[in-house]
Amino acid sequence: MPEQDPIRVDALVVGAGFAGMYQLYKLREAGFAVRCVEAGSGVGGTWFWNRYPGARCDVESMSYSYSFSPELEQEWEWSEKYPPQPEILRYLDHVADRFALRESIHFENRVTTARFDEATDRWEVKTDASLTFDTRFLIMATGCLSQPKAPDLPHVERFAGPTYQTGTWPDETVDFSGKTVGVVGTGSSGIQVIPVMAKQAERVVVFQRTPNFCLPSRNREFTVEEVAERKRTYREWRTAQREAGYGVPTNPPTRSALEVADEARELCYQGAWDDGDLVAMLGSYTDLLVDEDANETVSEFLRERIRETVDDPEVAEKLSPRTFPFGTKRPCLGTDYYETFNRDNVELVDVRATPIVEVTASGVTTTESQHDLDVLILATGFDGMTGALMAIEIVGVDGVTLAERWADGPRTYMGLAISGFPNLFTITGPLSPGILANVVVAVELDAEWITTCLERLRDQGIHRVEAERDAEDAWVTHVADLASQTLYPRANSWWMGANVPGKPQTFMIYVAGLRVYHDKCEEIAAEGYEGFRLTE
Ligand code: FAD
Ligand code: NAP
Repeated sequence: MPEQDPIRVDALVVGAGFAGMYQLYKLREAGFAVRCVEAGSGVGGTWFWNRYPGARCDVESMSYSYSFSPELEQEWEWSEKYPPQPEILRYLDHVADRFALRESIHFENRVTTARFDEATDRWEVKTDASLTFDTRFLIMATGCLSQPKAPDLPHVERFAGPTYQTGTWPDETVDFSGKTVGVVGTGSSGIQVIPVMAKQAERVVVFQRTPNFCLPSRNREFTVEEVAERKRTYREWRTAQREAGYGVPTNPPTRSALEVADEARELCYQGAWDDGDLVAMLGSYTDLLVDEDANETVSEFLRERIRETVDDPEVAEKLSPRTFPFGTKRPCLGTDYYETFNRDNVELVDVRATPIVEVTASGVTTTESQHDLDVLILATGFDGMTGALMAIEIVGVDGVTLAERWADGPRTYMGLAISGFPNLFTITGPLSPGILANVVVAVELDAEWITTCLERLRDQGIHRVEAERDAEDAWVTHVADLASQTLYPRANSWWMGANVPGKPQTFMIYVAGLRVYHDKCEEIAAEGYEGFRLTE
């Protein structure tokens, strides 16, 4: 394709998921010349790519939605507590149309390189469809979970049947009836897809390396009264979401799990289990994520529920997590997940005990047996937090690339900016708290902070803003200090980078929660962008 003249803008937003769409809207409202580039052919991000059967959100829909437009809130009708992927994508399509966002988005353009020009303090950004942008500010809304992990099963390419990865599921109906389907992976995606497959396919073989904790979602349709009540009180609800640590209003715990009587504790856990409420379960007591003994009380409660649900005690034991404390790997919400293993057409293969040797043309071979398959589903996860950013050749000051800067793990200031990479912002970037929370609340807060920052810089005639190395170092240390006081680093999670072979292992999320974090962001802004070097 012939090179076109660079498109000159004030700001370029990369990614058109929840974050990029809102950032585009906010900057346009603020009067900036702004464009957005998106690798996919439509808006939606996560909800555009993850079309696998069973995909749905696990934060209640009326909370997992934009708060910026009261009109949008009133006109949109969510059908279920945890709506399926097509409904969330319809919502995001509606938002794109309602706010005329599409006209500013260049679809099917994947950013491949971004170079900072120190002479002009501007970024030159190129895409794989030969577009070039010349932009003052570059805002990465590339998502924490948008770069699927490369399949790392030996000879996976040799499988003769169709192979689907949950994170890049095709936009077509796939008929699994009469088929033997293998599913590798039992994280949130696997836990959603497996029960649906079990109902559609002839047989399902689940290859599980690490069992995960799963609560029943108790998903249901909203009543008319519930919807009316939320619509009446949306403003108060949105304020409460932003005040809450994780973007979901709850009563914060006040007591240790170890200071209450056994029966009271069981009742408390049972309440969260019966409600299908992950946030309530995680927030039952003050010390579940900091004290191993406290955590063991909830972990054992959940293992007991597995034993109660699964008929075969050996299968129940295989499904019982024992290698990490509850909550230190992203826990899941499922529908009939454990019940699925009581079906005659479902087989559980523990690939920790009998590892996968290779994939062959006809199926998967473990050290114990050969499993013939018609279809292979990889629910093997993402190169989280850093994957989408590192996939772009980003070149900052003195020709240093982001890959070089982050060779030992990501370093950011507040998860929003990176020293040596001026005029570049990341929404829910590494070392921010967003992905531990209701992400929609997190991306709204970040996009608003960035918009205000750019408005103030414009008002003051400032062309260059860059995180200072000292401020960044202090933030990296603070994030690591907090994480080390918790149980989070105990798990081989994608939050730790442990799921991708060779990736540096550091806990990549700020654990103090959204409220504390955004208070700090506001303080930094109020102090004239403390920790940033501003240049006219
Ligand atoms: P994304 O939605 O990931 O969008 C990023 C976009 O950037 C993508 O469209 C991608 O194509 C584009 N992009 C990336 N790199 C480039 C490039 N180089 N050039 C051009 N475009 C690029 N969070 C919750 O809070 N609750 C949930 O219930 C929940 N469920 C989830 C279910 C699944 C299956 C997954 C994978 C994640 C889920 N999450 C959930 C997290 C979810 O990612 C966020 O809630 C939210 O959708 C993220 O929005 P985003 O805009 O930040 O990123
Ligand atoms: P994930 O949590 O990283 O799970 C990947 C699974 O694949 C794990 O069970 C992993 O085992 C297994 N696996 C990976 N490589 C393997 C290999 N080579 N051999 C055998 N097993 C292998 O990924 P995910 O399920 O896609 O979820 C990622 C995140 O997306 C979630 O944590 C959540 O934040 C979000 N999400 C949310 C929802 C929702 O309910 N709303 C749904 C889907 C995703 P190990 O654990 O042993 O590595």
